[in-house]
Amino acid sequence: MKFGALEAGGTKMVCAVGTKEGEILERVSFPTESPKETMPKLLEYFRDKEVQALGVGCFGPIDLNRQSESYGRILETPKLAWRNYDICGYFRNGLQVPVGFDTDVNGSMLGECTWGCARGLDTAIYITVGTGVGVGVLAGGKLLHGMQHPEGGHMLTPAREDDPYKGKCPYHGHCLEGLAAGPAIEERWGAKAKDLACRPEVWELEAHYLAYAITNYIMVLSPQKIILGGGVMHQGQLFFLVRAKVKDMIGGYLKTRGLEDMDSYIVPASLEDNQGILGALKLGMDAWEKEKGGQR
Ligand code: ADP
Ligand code: ZN
Repeated sequence: MKFGALEAGGTKMVCAVGTKEGEILERVSFPTESPKETMPKLLEYFRDKEVQALGVGCFGPIDLNRQSESYGRILETPKLAWRNYDICGYFRNGLQVPVGFDTDVNGSMLGECTWGCARGLDTAIYITVGTGVGVGVLAGGKLLHGMQHPEGGHMLTPAREDDPYKGKCPYHGHCLEGLAAGPAIEERWGAKAKDLACRPEVWELEAHYLAYAITNYIMVLSPQKIILGGGVMHQGQLFFLVRAKVKDMIGGYLKTRGLEDMDSYIVPASLEDNQGILGALKLGMDAWEKEKGGQR
């Protein structure tokens, strides 16, 4: 039995076919242009693959409320051509199979708790720090949606007193994404993030913002593990800095076994950058189980 997986990102669309054991059999990637240009290529790719269902982990915000008329659509994105686009409906009509749908970061969280370092846990968070910052949340064994879905990347964040940078988020200026995503690092320091590897002050400040947010997520959600992925986290030195700062910021208030071993509490993504596509695969498997499982 085969399932389709789509990791729908702002710059590229990764399509894959895999098995329920989490084996990726094949994959391709297409640039994200307008829906009119891009979507037929994706449909064409999946059409002859005999997939039982498709899972889509999508850039957001998206509508995940099944009671809503706009369920399955992309909402207020700055990518204007995609605003209001019914990505789920397009595949349902085109492929006539169940379509699972969630945010890209909830997808990555699902990948990690199905096949990665969050297996066996019921509450954890996955944070991507890349072109934007996104937070996927597993709470009580389920991906958290609530009113819409968590938007932890836009958590309002005070600038540190020695940081005059105005912040890059068009909605908030100073939110975590506005202060700590790749483009903010580049604008603040005037060079590509990966070319700043040898500037300790860059990563010390970056770690401050990440630790500030993570400490707040810990206080609100009580996660059993915190997983960090995305391009910026390829700077491995961030992990040491973030762990030390989180410990400081908690200030001795929480004393749990999990926090005693920071090296296995705040960890890098464990699936070699496949967490997103594997999570999408699992979204497809779950959609199939929900719609067709009972008919077996
Ligand atoms: P996206 O968020 O678009 O899916 P990525 O997770 O790869 O893509 O994030 C891209 C961002 O990560 C860019 O802002 C880039 O500057 C930054 N980045 C990529 N590689 C590195 C690296 N080795 N070190 C620091 N930053 C990096
Ligand atoms: Zn913001």
